[in-house]
Amino acid sequence: MTCPSEPTSPGPDEIPLDTDGVLARLAAYREHDAPTHGGRVLSYVYDSGLAALDELAARAAREVQAVNGLDPTTFPSVALMEGDLVTFGREILHGPDAVGSVTSGGTESCLLAVKAAREAWRERHPGSTARPTILLPQTAHAAFHKAAHYLDLDVDVVPVDPATGTLPATAITQRLGEATALVVVSAPAYPHGVLDPVAEVAAAAREAGVPCHVDACIGGLVLPFWEAAGGGPVPPWDFRVPGVTSISADLHKYGYAPKGSSLLLFADRALDRARYFALTDWPGYPVVNPTVLGSRSATSLAAAWAVTSALGVQGYVELTRRLVSATAAVRARVDGIPGLRVLGDPTGPLMAVVADESAAGEDRVDPHLWAAAVARREFVLQGQPGLTQADGSVLPRSTHLTVTPVTDQVLGELLEALRAGADDVRGQASGGPGGGDAGGSDPAPRESSLPDPTELARAAREDGELDLTAVLALIETLPRDVSARMLVEFLAAFTEPRPGRDRTLS
Ligand SMILES: *Cc1c(COP(=O)(O)O)cnc(C)c1O
Repeated sequence: MTCPSEPTSPGPDEIPLDTDGVLARLAAYREHDAPTHGGRVLSYVYDSGLAALDELAARAAREVQAVNGLDPTTFPSVALMEGDLVTFGREILHGPDAVGSVTSGGTESCLLAVKAAREAWRERHPGSTARPTILLPQTAHAAFHKAAHYLDLDVDVVPVDPATGTLPATAITQRLGEATALVVVSAPAYPHGVLDPVAEVAAAAREAGVPCHVDACIGGLVLPFWEAAGGGPVPPWDFRVPGVTSISADLHKYGYAPKGSSLLLFADRALDRARYFALTDWPGYPVVNPTVLGSRSATSLAAAWAVTSALGVQGYVELTRRLVSATAAVRARVDGIPGLRVLGDPTGPLMAVVADESAAGEDRVDPHLWAAAVARREFVLQGQPGLTQADGSVLPRSTHLTVTPVTDQVLGELLEALRAGADDVRGQASGGPGGGDAGGSDPAPRESSLPDPTELARAAREDGELDLTAVLALIETLPRDVSARMLVEFLAAFTEPRPGRDRTLS
């Protein structure tokens, strides 16, 4: 092999590249972004606080930049890294014989778990005219609704206890039936950080011959270390539980890898094989895809592989220790703020904060107004709309907090912002069914009186103004199909190029 030397100045055949100019423009674009590091954003980003780990991930990604993960026989490094990550997953999730893949993220892992279950259901019910159904709690991640939408299954959504976010196991097991292709439980569920009763549900699913997926996208790389890190015992939820047939665990969340990686493991080889797609019925190369994409980047895989290899179980336990103490401090602070409370009893580093209904009206704190007040103190919390469940009960509107290892570094300032933000808005109400005062009796606004989503997008882009509190309140009051359509228009307008304003490439 010859080693090409770096060109010092462009020769006659070189295409001049304005690398500095392009990177400067990227840096200018990035100035619009929320900070990804430092613990100011309590959702979306999972900062380990270890700069060397980020640097390692970047170097590993660069090493495989040109590799195509489509064909591990041509690029065996892909299979080797994936094998190491599956081995790591087997160890921490206690599935010594589990098999699976690294996917691009939680959504893809959930989608493939559903796909596998659908194939298995079809095999169990040849010629059935029933429609395969995913049986899941209200708090299960939206990714399962998306999977049902893409793969043409129905969903059977089971309400949770609105006061605590917990799923009564019998509520779900009673609904197991012939149409059930998959039961989903979460460890924990994203909205409130509450762990579902995995053992009871998985046992019933097993008895009914139905696969049971544990969605540990968010908890899969933190709950295994929680007890060793001093967080106390966690009820069983992994492959040790009989009846658990698959688990998703996102490497790009508490695995501290850059975005684009998740683990999907199956206890059972037959179910694992059902997620594949293979085709020899075309004139091109023989196709066999374990995941959704064809050609795929190996950069996130390499980055995740490097991060998990470097941290090892001990590294994760150490980072989890930082989470345990910061989570306890945040929870204690919220519990000490009059007018607010943590919903239920979360397991792990997530929680949802709701208005304390036992407080008198003038002492209550609306969680969305609170989030806005905390944002003025430069901590970004995530608003979640209130939701009326199928049984008529209302899951209250809440504000979600994802604690990360760096939360510890800004803890004093954060705790003060949480307290002061509540003082700013105590007694103020904003309407909607999840609000402290309205109780779902607000008439739905007429569509013609709604804000124009394109106008909202324009204001958000040009003036940096987006009144999230108003958007969430609107989501609470509108029929769900209307609010969903509104979100589509908003995002499409937000990302659409604006002639005369956005740069052209000429
Ligand atoms: C994040 C998450 C998902 C979806 O994962 P993405 O990586 O955002 O695609 C699914 N389930 C749970 C519980 C999650 O927290």
